[in-house]
Amino acid sequence: MAQAKHIFVTGGVTSSLGKGIIASSLATLLQARGFSVTIQKFDPYINIDPGTLNPYEHGECYVTDDGAETDLDLGHYERFLNVATSQANNVTTGKIYYNVITKERQGAYLGKTVQVIPHITDEIKRNFLLLDDTGKYDIIITEIGGCVGDIESLPFIEALRQLRWELGGNDVIVIHLTLVPYLAAAGELKTKPTQHSVKALSESGVQPDIIICRSEKPIPMEIRKKVALFTGVNVNSVIEALDAETIYDVPLLMRKEKLDERVLAKLRYPYKKEPNIDAWKEFLGKLKNPTDSVEIGLVGKYVELHDAYKSIAEAFVHAGAYNECKVRLHWIHSEKINDENVESILGKLDGILVAPGFGERGIEGKISAVRFAREHQIPFFGICLGMQCAVIEFTRNVLGLSEAHSTEMNPDTQVPIIDMMEEQKKVTMKGGTMRLGAYPCKLKKGSKVQQAYGKSQISERHRHRYEFNNKYLEEIEKAGMIASGLNPDTELVEVVELVDHPWFVGVQYHPELKSTVMNPHPLFVRFVKAAQECKEKK
Ligand code: GLN
Repeated sequence: MAQAKHIFVTGGVTSSLGKGIIASSLATLLQARGFSVTIQKFDPYINIDPGTLNPYEHGECYVTDDGAETDLDLGHYERFLNVATSQANNVTTGKIYYNVITKERQGAYLGKTVQVIPHITDEIKRNFLLLDDTGKYDIIITEIGGCVGDIESLPFIEALRQLRWELGGNDVIVIHLTLVPYLAAAGELKTKPTQHSVKALSESGVQPDIIICRSEKPIPMEIRKKVALFTGVNVNSVIEALDAETIYDVPLLMRKEKLDERVLAKLRYPYKKEPNIDAWKEFLGKLKNPTDSVEIGLVGKYVELHDAYKSIAEAFVHAGAYNECKVRLHWIHSEKINDENVESILGKLDGILVAPGFGERGIEGKISAVRFAREHQIPFFGICLGMQCAVIEFTRNVLGLSEAHSTEMNPDTQVPIIDMMEEQKKVTMKGGTMRLGAYPCKLKKGSKVQQAYGKSQISERHRHRYEFNNKYLEEIEKAGMIASGLNPDTELVEVVELVDHPWFVGVQYHPELKSTVMNPHPLFVRFVKAAQECKEKK
């Protein structure tokens, strides 16, 4: 039985209006009033999870502590709320059908015809309430992916209708996010798309309680009244969401529009203190008033789509604000780099990050970038595949084993310095089968990473199949690249760093996934600092 209050966020008119940021901002305000809040995302696509998707499709795949491969919006939830999400926070149509079909094969519905209503909708409702069952939350915000009116989101909207009917309007409210476009030629803001989108929602039996209008221009009272009239929402529940300079402004913009107050009134929630957002404001103050700046190159092969590296870009925002330093990211395509042109592409940078990735494409460019950073004493940060490239480069050019490679790129290499884990060799299925989620790591005393973290025991999230091959460890360490972080149970190498370099660190895990506004990741903080020092020296 439901104990928490439920807020659903649906979207209309177009995708990419920022439902995830609105949900995160509202959650931030409610959390700042002392409520325990979580956010979950329901995605209409058929993939069981986004783990098998190319980053070009929906951007990065965000990994939780418990090893779920999820939508990148969960990254926003964690960055805003500073609370970890889990497997249960992201559900797709594929997962719902998979559960229902599995039960059907087990005979759970024996004798019955299995149908969208009630079987699929019941399974959706069960999943809507999974986090509620933990008893940990006062308020659960559920973001429904896609657009109202899409064929594939219909079962989610129907399940929402049923749940509201079952639990009642004081426990379940619906916020609908739409677009109010500005037609420059007519000099007018247009409400028609909003009217249509709310009509589509109402036809599915769901009347929104609050309408948030995304707009590039302020929405005057007469337009708000028009939206209210056509959609049957109180005028003070028509909220404006202006394009913001940074996503981190949105909680304050929503506060100004009194979104949190409207929500609590609709939920008939007893008064709790005003939100305390001083720390958030302090972060924004630092973010907007930097006293220094650095140029950092992000070398990857999906750079055309910045969302493919969302968490890395946001981790730089957090670390930059912490250091009161503007981080200018240069998105550099690894396929365009080679040993001949590398200086002209990377020569002016204060720091180089080589990004995570899969497969052969662009790999040699990444290795050239590593070499340049190593030889020119430019701060370097390698993440996952980036760390593997650092090890390959070192083995080839310092140990002189020119054949060195990862068996992911060259299965027949004579020097498999990066190789598949034993347990991975048995794996044949693709989805959810990598080394996923949080693993402990022990850092070497006195190492650069141990100093950055300020502690020796850490836990970080993983998403990979290949590993540093310990057969070469001794030789590599003798030559000046040390394994400064090890998994305490398996001895797998999690971190490498160069002894003779201002800041050269490669990590097998994904630190970017744990950086939040209130808790910038220490390795990003230290890397930005190293870039500042590098700039000063020039
Ligand atoms: N492709 C590499 C592996 O599977 C690295 C993965 C990553 O960068 N996330 O080990």
